[in-house]
Amino acid sequence: MQPDDFTPGTVWLVGAGPGDPDLLTMKAVRLIGRADIVFYDALVGDGVLALIPRHTERVSVGKRSGRHSKDQRTIDAMLVEAAAAGKRVVRLKGGDPSIFGRSGEELAALRAAGYAVHICPGITSACAAAASAGISLTLRGVSRDVRFVTAHSKRGAALDIDWTSLASGGSTLAFYMGRDAAGAIMRGLMRAGMAGDTPVMIACDVSGPDERRLATRLALLELATGSFAASAPTLILVGEAVGQADIALALPDIAARSSMLSPARIATSEAARPQRTRPC
Ligand code: SAH
Repeated sequence: MQPDDFTPGTVWLVGAGPGDPDLLTMKAVRLIGRADIVFYDALVGDGVLALIPRHTERVSVGKRSGRHSKDQRTIDAMLVEAAAAGKRVVRLKGGDPSIFGRSGEELAALRAAGYAVHICPGITSACAAAASAGISLTLRGVSRDVRFVTAHSKRGAALDIDWTSLASGGSTLAFYMGRDAAGAIMRGLMRAGMAGDTPVMIACDVSGPDERRLATRLALLELATGSFAASAPTLILVGEAVGQADIALALPDIAARSSMLSPARIATSEAARPQRTRPC
């Protein structure tokens, strides 16, 4: 950050990462320390909020799927108002601001009102979940791309997702806001031809004190998701690359995993696997 980038009346959309303050960028920490006012979402971790200096004004805008305490237009207006008052404004968002964070609306509102707005990236929850599980989202010869997919739909509406394109293979799929749509995701992908034994990982509260991960298979996704608290942020990863999670679990010694995809290793992990669905 250049010293002049946080002049009064400037807004920074700051990625707060998945929850653990150790996963913040140094730039995010500096911006939080210099802000006059911080607006934050419900998904921002307590450890991150603890970094806001005592004298700094803090405002919860509490957006959470299904429980929006402030609508987006109100939040846009609050940011514009704070910038107009000449404050240094930090808008903290869970994960990365550019992934399902409604940043587009906030950027547009601030620019239309004539205020400078910048983005400080954060670690998105799909990357944090992969890191926790000790896997790679892309995998040479297995997964060529990663698709970030929102499984959020307006209350009662069917998911507007091109299942055929997602199921065509070779991708790691990261479903955000997918807990309540787990059954629809499972059926959508399987009807589009994805195999029922495609590896899946469900990751909940990643990097937080209550983090929980479950390695399972696509055909069991709906059943498995039922064991996760509805209130906790939950990410669903689907794809052959995600199968590394099983192997990583069966071989807890990291050194032993250096050649983890060799056929011998896979055989070992298959033999060691007591069941397909279990907590990780
Ligand atoms: N901008 C955020 C995503 C916001 S959408 C990011 O980059 O991560 C909210 C969804 O993100 C949640 O429903 C959940 O699917 C996912 N999510 C956010 N934080 C999470 C966490 N700590 N653990 C698991 N999933 C998380």
